[in-house]
Amino acid sequence: MIAAIVSVQNKDEVTIFEHMPRMGKKLLLTGSGKCNISNTDMDISHFHGGDMSRIKAVLEKCPPDVTLDFFRGLGLLMRERKGGLYPYCEQASAVVDVLRFSIRDLGVDVLTQANVLSVQKLIPSDNGLERGFAVTTDQGRFLFDKVIMCTGSACNRNTGSDGSGYSLAKALGHTVIKPAPALTHLKCEEDFFASIAGIRTQANVSLYECSKDCGKETLLGSMGGELQITRSGISGIPVMNLSFLAVRALDDGQKIKGSLDLLPDVDEEDIQGYIRSRIDNNPDRLADELFIGVLAKPLGMCICKRANVGLKTPCKTLTSAHISILGKLIKKFDVTVTGYGGFDESQSACGGVSLLEVDDDLESTIVPGLFFAGEILDVNGDCGGYNLQWAASSAMVAARRHHDSGDMI
Ligand SMILES: Cc1cc2nc3c(=O)[nH]c(=O)nc-3n(C[C@H](O)[C@H](O)[C@H](O)COP(=O)(O)OP(=O)(O)OC[C@H]3O[C@@H](n4cnc5c(N)ncnc54)[C@H](O)[C@@H]3O)c2cc1C
Repeated sequence: MIAAIVSVQNKDEVTIFEHMPRMGKKLLLTGSGKCNISNTDMDISHFHGGDMSRIKAVLEKCPPDVTLDFFRGLGLLMRERKGGLYPYCEQASAVVDVLRFSIRDLGVDVLTQANVLSVQKLIPSDNGLERGFAVTTDQGRFLFDKVIMCTGSACNRNTGSDGSGYSLAKALGHTVIKPAPALTHLKCEEDFFASIAGIRTQANVSLYECSKDCGKETLLGSMGGELQITRSGISGIPVMNLSFLAVRALDDGQKIKGSLDLLPDVDEEDIQGYIRSRIDNNPDRLADELFIGVLAKPLGMCICKRANVGLKTPCKTLTSAHISILGKLIKKFDVTVTGYGGFDESQSACGGVSLLEVDDDLESTIVPGLFFAGEILDVNGDCGGYNLQWAASSAMVAARRHHDSGDMI
């Protein structure tokens, strides 16, 4: 939608093909219905993909300020919350509507319920009648000078991004780096998750790839934030942001360990001191009350069980060895990651059209005149507005390039 608006503003003639009844269905789901469009912290480390220099080049060509001005130009008032940028009314539908109405007012041809079945680069025929691209849909065949492919990924298929864009790109000769869910929850092996499900707590989450015998551990990534414990494992922003690393490693057959620091602001020695003073002050209390006021009760009980401390053990009988194990478990609550939420449970995808086969204007180096933008490319961003920022910047870069070359699409 952004690519179409920018192209028309630059005097191109544009047709949008959308196979859903309406455009922008996924946008309506974003930011829990509030649409986290962008972020004040645009450090490049929030983006991941097969060629960081290309991602950087695109974001430099079209920085967040430009895309935010674009939205303001469409009439969208925005506000910041904890660095995240949202529509002022906190309704994703407002973002969809400003885009939709602008598209209508600019006179863009929009064909909805038009499934693109193939995009074909035409070889100029002898009579020179056909050139550019033929786009074949279930509503007919159309000719264009240029094509911008913005078909999204395979996440949340019911929003329309069903992965068909990957096949269209492959048919044109592009390499598609194996798409996989990113920004998803992780499933863990341990059987205690049902007893602690629903807990949300500040934590530092680290993921390690373990060698087959688990002798050697390699840190994949580490991040702090709100950890959410589910019936099947772990979720929350730090887990989601790190999830694509685990997904890739699990798909490669690696073993993954998660290590949760449940009191990231306190060091282990202080935790042990705290446990000791707690025991001294309340010697007759039972172990199941040891962590009350510090950790959620079920989590404290789970830690006791993992330390082989009976829940009805009087605190005064706990030994130094117990205290040491309890302190270690709070700082290193290890879990075995065995799976992940699939495409329909994830908020973005890693993988996609290789960045090595597009230039800094996102034009294909294999098929001149073909451009890509958004999540179809091998780029994934962290939670916090980075995926929509990528979609916006890449769409504007691809659309502007048409103008620079003076061609019509
Ligand atoms: C639940 C959820 C919450 C999210 N929250 C946020 C957030 O707050 N902030 C953020 O930055 N990101 C968020 N994201 C990610 C963000 O929505 C996506 O990265 C972004 O929408 C990608 O934009 P896109 O235009 O590339 O693809 P999409 O938005 O997926 O759009 C692709 C469009 O192409 C159409 N299409 C696909 N194939 C065909 C075909 N063959 N023929 C015709 N039409 C086709 C689809 O129907 C779809 O309308 C969230 C995602 C989800 C699922």
